[in-house]
Amino acid sequence: MEQDMLIQKSKDLLWLPFTQMKDYEEDPIVIEHGEGVRLYDTEGKSYYDGYSSLWLNVHGHKKKELDDAIKEQLGKVAHTTLLGAANRPAIELAERLIDLTPAPLKRVFYSDSGAEAVEIGLKIAFQYWRNKGYQDKTKFVTVTNGYHGDTVGAISVGAVDIFHTTYKPLMFDSYKVPFPTVYRNELPDPVDVRDQALAELETMLSEKGKEIAAVIMEGMVQGAGGMHVMPNGYLKGVENLCKKHDVLLIIDEVATGFGRTGKMFAVEHEEVEPDIMMVAKGITGGYLPIAATLTTEEIYKAFYADYAELKTFFHGHSYTGNQLGCAAALANLDIFEQENVMEDVERKTAFVKEKLEALKDLPHVGDIRQLGLMVGIELVLNKKTKQPFPWVERIGYQTTLEMRKLGMLSRPLGDTIVFMPPYASSYEDLDAMISIMEQAIKETTSKAMQ
Ligand code: PLP
Repeated sequence: MEQDMLIQKSKDLLWLPFTQMKDYEEDPIVIEHGEGVRLYDTEGKSYYDGYSSLWLNVHGHKKKELDDAIKEQLGKVAHTTLLGAANRPAIELAERLIDLTPAPLKRVFYSDSGAEAVEIGLKIAFQYWRNKGYQDKTKFVTVTNGYHGDTVGAISVGAVDIFHTTYKPLMFDSYKVPFPTVYRNELPDPVDVRDQALAELETMLSEKGKEIAAVIMEGMVQGAGGMHVMPNGYLKGVENLCKKHDVLLIIDEVATGFGRTGKMFAVEHEEVEPDIMMVAKGITGGYLPIAATLTTEEIYKAFYADYAELKTFFHGHSYTGNQLGCAAALANLDIFEQENVMEDVERKTAFVKEKLEALKDLPHVGDIRQLGLMVGIELVLNKKTKQPFPWVERIGYQTTLEMRKLGMLSRPLGDTIVFMPPYASSYEDLDAMISIMEQAIKETTSKAMQ
């Protein structure tokens, strides 16, 4: 059968991200096409895209407006370099991004993936201080369990051990402070968790501020680190501390940007204005690989002022500012406006929250964490003690595998099930997806307990 042949070729020829899906995992499925919030394999079996194709696809697949925008741009030109030659979609998109993001952000540097946008943010922060004559401000502060992508710079400021441990000799040093993780914290009150984390950051910045270029963290939700939502006031507290100690604040909105947490950008929850901000994933509605690093005019000017050491930012990629991607991103932003997407996200967030209540009673659901349509469901062996399942059970993976059999795709983060539906999911779709998760959790955890 054709599907079997493609699966075999996939196993023989492709080097898949994170896992080779050979002996360790089930065979991959082979996606042939998508329609709305569903994906179809080569035999026509349909699956809900319960993780928005790795947190990107927001308006569903085969969205006419996105398809049309790309086709229209294809009729003009697919790609030209931004090096010495600007292009209309890149300019228009920069204007829209500057309009949408916090007011101090006034410059846009394009790239092709979240990790690249992070690399660019790190290099800008580093060079900014050098240009201003602060040669010692070279270090970054990040939080435990933070994730910023898989390139060498991004893993150097990341802290999800399984992604980084092997590459430690390649990485540059950065300082870590505790993320205010509420679940399993010895402090019962999230306010105390927040204050303790802020106190640790304050100590770090007081002691090492002269060496520190920037603090970098995700916006409001730590995604790949397990879907942990920051306690209220933490991010604002971080912003205040950065200002007080003359350290830049870099916020990574790669996963949280474009509506995922219920605001267009997560920083809006606390009116935080970072010095540098990265966006990617949802920027093109999950269609094409575009990312952007935004920064302030003050930072930009430091690269070209009389005192600047180099008067150049030595960075660029072949596809920087790609016209097709920028055209898709512009159409994506039009959809947000024309279809009142953020109001829809707010209603669907409330709906999902209510539906997920039922899952809280399941014997092995330890914690459900949600901000907007960004959800993590952590499975535990013992709800009272919060003891995890033994690692060998691979309970998160087994649960998503069961979900796949039931017609829904997602990937786990350890024992945490990710639920990041496209915003275009109807209420019936959301209901069906939550039912599938419930069924899969029941099935998998009861099997593990036998
Ligand atoms: N930053 C965050 C917060 C992310 O969640 C991710 C990817 O999941 C990245 C950066 C890396 O993005 P990309 O996979 O596009 O390189």
